[in-house]
Order: sequence, then structure tokens, then C-alpha cells
Amino acid sequence: MSTLFPALTNPGEQPALRFGDRSLTYAELGAAADALATRCAGNNRVAVWATNSLETAVAVVAALRAGVAAVPLNPKSGDKELGHILADSAPALVLAAPGDELPSALRELKRVDVDVRAVGTVADVQVSDEDPALVVYTSGTTGPPKGAVLPRRAIATTLDALADAWQWTGDDVLVHGLPLFHVHGLVLGILGPLRRGGSVRHLGRFSTEGVARELNDGATMLFGVPTMYHRIAETLPDDPGLAKSLARARLLVSGSAALPVHDHERIASATGRRVIERYGMTETLMNTSVRADGEPRAGTVGVPLPGVELRLVEEDGTQLPVYDGESVGEIQVRGPNLFTEYLNRPDATAAAFTADGWFRTGDMAVRDPDGYVRIVGRKATDLIKSGGYKIGAGEIENALLEHPGVREAAVTGEPDPDLGERIVAWIVPADPQSPPELAELADHVAGRLAPHKRPRVVHHLSALPRNDMGKILKRALTHD
Ligand code: ATP
Ligand code: MG
Repeated sequence: MSTLFPALTNPGEQPALRFGDRSLTYAELGAAADALATRCAGNNRVAVWATNSLETAVAVVAALRAGVAAVPLNPKSGDKELGHILADSAPALVLAAPGDELPSALRELKRVDVDVRAVGTVADVQVSDEDPALVVYTSGTTGPPKGAVLPRRAIATTLDALADAWQWTGDDVLVHGLPLFHVHGLVLGILGPLRRGGSVRHLGRFSTEGVARELNDGATMLFGVPTMYHRIAETLPDDPGLAKSLARARLLVSGSAALPVHDHERIASATGRRVIERYGMTETLMNTSVRADGEPRAGTVGVPLPGVELRLVEEDGTQLPVYDGESVGEIQVRGPNLFTEYLNRPDATAAAFTADGWFRTGDMAVRDPDGYVRIVGRKATDLIKSGGYKIGAGEIENALLEHPGVREAAVTGEPDPDLGERIVAWIVPADPQSPPELAELADHVAGRLAPHKRPRVVHHLSALPRNDMGKILKRALTHD
């Protein structure tokens, strides 16, 4: 296939990557990646110690240039998870920044230090569209992470579809505050700007000050997870400068989990800008997005991206006959954005596809007549069967978050002899001294949604259990 990064073919001195006070132009990135590619070539897979650094970006680009699949590792994983990923993916070596101390799980592995100032050239390697480019492990929200094998074709397809949806060009400058071992931070946040020929400024660690500074200094887009937009929403009332900075952005994008409607609305009223939501998975890369030229609507993830086929399917496997904005079905997708398989898991791969080749996302949604998709939640954890109704946790969480006494909320179901399941609310109160009680929250929800959607049990917590992407770990709530 043609190259993933046209801007690296005859690279110039335009900026490519900046992490703190360290940066690389396209020419420097190309030279460093090519020097490293020579050392990766001929291997099956290489692991990348994916800290938030120039080295990680250079390492991944080098592996792609060498036609070798890169396996990004989360530096915050414990030895157990790293051990699982290494045993599963069997990389030939690990690429790391000089000076990075690697945990014991990695000590046996041959190490190659990434030199971002190295200069090299790489002979043209023969790679095909279907060759594995990345093996990315899923977030482990619902079970042990699985390694999704992503071919070059899927990466190119998804990034070009997003370019179409977001009018994303080489003139864009991205503010980035996400980790680099998942699809969001790595494929969208690093490979995306590089494919367009634009640039990335990584904050190292997300902060509202960092976002404001970069937007004031010419950055045009921000990619974030809902916990970041929550921080922004909470900070806006005390920081008028932040609202002005956000108002300058061409595009504010959220993904990886549902953006609470309350946060969406607070940001919109303070800045005049609506956050655009997109929906994707490690296995499928991006499936839907609100388009830059479309109408952003709180609580929706927009429409299928170009090339993506999407349908909602009932429990018996039949497709919903009409999209009425109410009927719930599982999202199934098909298209060139999909992974090829779970590494070493033919059973899981087979189970993930229908007989006619659609990928079962495990996410439940409704679709408005005009095509907008609204995610109700995950089939496994967010669909509560209570009193003969199927109730999505998400809309109850959104309603709870509108209560002034609620800072964070998660909703689950638990067995109930009468109802089948009863609705349980897990609340982080805004004021721990006077947490809102069950009767008040039940009235609040019943008044906004419907009486059968009111919580029957409330637990007060000081924080919700979340993973590195800020996703709520519902199994940690219900299994403790
Ligand atoms: P695992 O598969 O290991 O349990 P995970 O599903 O969280 O973990 P990812 O592939 O990182 O791993 O996340 C994909 C999931 O994230 C989707 O299936 C969906 O549930 C959720 N998601 C992503 N974007 C959105 C969004 N905009 N709104 C709601 N949910 C989203
Ligand atoms: Mg998943």
C-alpha cells in the first residue's frame, strides 16, 4: 500500500511532535525512525515501552516503517498484566527511552534504546495492507485485556474517515494529554496528525492550564476522555480564561467512554462550543462520530463514518426494523476499519463475529430516525432488566449527574426477588458532609425519566474505581 505517512516521504522542517520542551520536525522524525527501523527489521513483533514521550512516537513510527508490528505497553501495568501481555505477544525486543527503568517482567527481553537524534535511512520494505501494524490490548474494562491485531489498512482507513468527518488537515495542531498505549492516544492522537502532516503537542500530563496555554498558542484541536472534559467543566466557573481558550479551538473531541450530558451542557454554555463525540473500540478503531459540519447533540456519538456499516440487532439476532430513537439493540459493525483477530484467541475472534461477518461490539444503542446513534451502555454491565423493562444505566447516570449534590455517578443492577434486577446508584457526593439520600435521588430520577428508572439502593463513595483511561470499572463496584 502507499505509505501511512506521506509527509515522511520527503520530509521537511515543519513541526511534527512536541513533548514538553522536546520536539522533532518531520525531517528529524523520519531520520530517527529510519535509524531505529533498521534495528527492528526482520522481527515478528516488537514491544514499545509506551511512556508519554518522543521516544514512544519514534519507536512506533520506526516499527511501522520496518513493517514490524508494535505492541505498546502500559508503563503503569503491574508485573502480572505485563507478564500476560509479553507471554501472549512474544515480542523479539523492547524499545524504550534511554534511562527508562523497566520492571522485572521485562528484564529478560532484549532492550533497544530509542535515540530520537539518530540519523538513518531505511531500505524500502515490502509491506501489504493486511500486514499487522499494531497489536493493541483492550482496556480490560470487562475482563483481561485481549490483543487486537490491527492491520495497516484499518489504521489508514479510520484516520482518513476521521479526516473526512472532522475536516482534519495538515494545518491542524493537536493538544494531546492522553496515554500512548491505547488506540485513542496512539492511533488517533499520534498517528492521526502524522498521517495528515500536521503536528501534536503533548502535555505529558493533562491539565486545564496546559490545554488553555496550547489553544492560546495556535493549537486547533483537543482530544480527550470524559474525565478530562469533566475537569474542564468543573474548572470553567472559576477560570474565565479557560472558556476563552476553549472557544478558540476548531474542534473539541471526546471518546473512550460516554461524555455525561451535564458536562457537555456546562462546557457549551460557558464556551459556546459543543464537544464532538466519537465512538470506537480497540477492535474496530472508529465507528461513528458527530461530523464537524453536522449538528452536535449532547448524548449522541453521531453517525457512521465513511465506509463503516452499522446496524442494531435484537437479542434473537434480527436487525431492528426501524430506527425510532427508542428501540434498543446491540451495535454491530462491518468495514475496512476492523481488526483481523485477537492474538492467539481464535475462540474469542470467532465468537466476536456473526456468521455473516459483522462484529458484535457488545455495546447497546438506540438510533434516531436521522441516523444519530445514542449509546445506552454495554450489554454486559449497563443494561438492567427490572420489572419487565430493559433500562440503560447511562441515562440514569446522566439524570443523577444533574442533581447538584452529585459529583460522579455510576449505575448497576443487582438481583431482586420481585423486579428481577433492581437499580443501584453509586454516588460520589459533591459535599461528603451532606450526601444526597436515596429518597431524594429516587424522586429526582423518577421526575426526569420515569418512575421505574429510579434507583432503589444508593451507595456513597469517595471516588469511583476507574482505569487509566478514566473508564468506570463496574465489575470492581459490584464484585467487592
Ligand atoms: P475490554 O474490551 O478489555 O473490556 P474496553 O472495551 O473498555 O475494555 P476499549 O477497546 O478501549 O476497551 O474500549 C471500547 C469501548 O469503550 C466501547 O466498546 C464502548 O463501550 C466504550 N466507548 C468508546 N467510545 C465511547 C463513547 N463515545 N460513548 C460511549 N462509550 C464509548
Ligand atoms: Mg471491549
